[in-house]
Amino acid sequence: MSHTAELIAVGTELLLGNIANTDAQMLSQGLSALGINVYYHTVVGDNPDRLRAAVELAKTRADIIITTGGLGPTCDDLTKNVLADCFGKKLVFHAPSARRIEDFFRRLHPDRPMTENNYQQAMLPEGCTVLDNDWGTAPGVAFEADGVGVIMLPGPPRECKAMFTHRVIPYLKELADGVIVSRTLKLFGIGESAMEAQLRERMNAMTNPTLAPYAKEGECELRITAKAADDETAHALIAPVEADLKAHFGPLVYGVDVPSLEAAVFALLKEKGLTLGTAESCTGGLVAKRMTDLAGVSSVFRGGVVSYATEVKHTVLGVDQGLLDQYGAVSEQVARAMAEGARKVLGCDLAISTTGVAGPDPDERGNPVGLVFIGLATPDGTWVRKVNLSMGRQRIRHIAASHGFDLARRYLTGLELK
Ligand code: ATP
Repeated sequence: MSHTAELIAVGTELLLGNIANTDAQMLSQGLSALGINVYYHTVVGDNPDRLRAAVELAKTRADIIITTGGLGPTCDDLTKNVLADCFGKKLVFHAPSARRIEDFFRRLHPDRPMTENNYQQAMLPEGCTVLDNDWGTAPGVAFEADGVGVIMLPGPPRECKAMFTHRVIPYLKELADGVIVSRTLKLFGIGESAMEAQLRERMNAMTNPTLAPYAKEGECELRITAKAADDETAHALIAPVEADLKAHFGPLVYGVDVPSLEAAVFALLKEKGLTLGTAESCTGGLVAKRMTDLAGVSSVFRGGVVSYATEVKHTVLGVDQGLLDQYGAVSEQVARAMAEGARKVLGCDLAISTTGVAGPDPDERGNPVGLVFIGLATPDGTWVRKVNLSMGRQRIRHIAASHGFDLARRYLTGLELK
């Protein structure tokens, strides 16, 4: 049976716009990966009547309710009281949780006595499953009542995420009869609508596993989700669909269950013992930034030159002045020379270059906004890809950087470079 969840975030600061509801984003992603449908997000302030009304409504349209926030020791932390009341449960003192809270305090503030109100956090709905919080003081709570599974999590995002990963996922898996397994294919170079059009009939006909497309900044994802009695059976259901999709989309698939294009490039460079460098103009260091966001990348990433001014392309990267004068900085010839220059200057095996017009205005030669040349220099030659990205400045830069990674991963996997 497939479940329907509703997320209720409790906190006036969310309604005031002081903070964004990032817990809901994280939980929605996690729940959909488990095959649980999330149909509603509700945000309610620290007000018991409005929270009660939100819970009563959620009971009519969801069989899993997850709350975030309002579990702390202060008087506006009202989630447990209201939820217990809505489901006809009493709050009872849970001694092991009280000991954990005392221990947590002792470790964090050895010189400060714990205030009495902290014991409120150990008042939990009778008969509930306690979700121990190793990342903060307020324990999480789970129980089933009135045909609904109720889960309460602390608000601070770090705690909420850790609790979801280490407590809620195992709890939900135990509740479910069987397992839900997902594999996500990552694609670059095809739009979501084109991908969906090719798969629509097939997706509609599928029941187990199911197939769901997602659009990400310049990329697409296809998630295959199978439900089965055990992991092995679920994987066996997924395998033929995955093989078929890989064959259908061919080189557009850059990985399965990999976090990003740059992570795929990092893994390939490591596997082959090769290094990378960058020479960036319109992306202003974004290729290098995305690469260095990955922990451990120093083993493959040599460095980058942000050659924003035309003069720097010549003086630092050694781009021939004649090329710059004749073709302009935004040209195939200059992208090529930048990448080759970076290989020499940085002493790397591969170098990615970018030069283009990120906007908002065309450049002095009349090149349109969104025209970008992306180069890749390698020991086997240099390739340049020309793209026209009709979108805003930040997206142009992000997607241009992604094209750089795409060229690199194509080279590293022996695919045609185009
Ligand atoms: P605490 O024990 O810290 O009081 P709590 O479970 O009572 O935790 P809140 O007091 O409601 O949670 O929120 C604590 C902090 O967590 C908030 O100030 C806010 O910074 C953050 N927070 C709460 N809810 C969310 C949310 N939905 N998304 C992102 N951040 C949140």
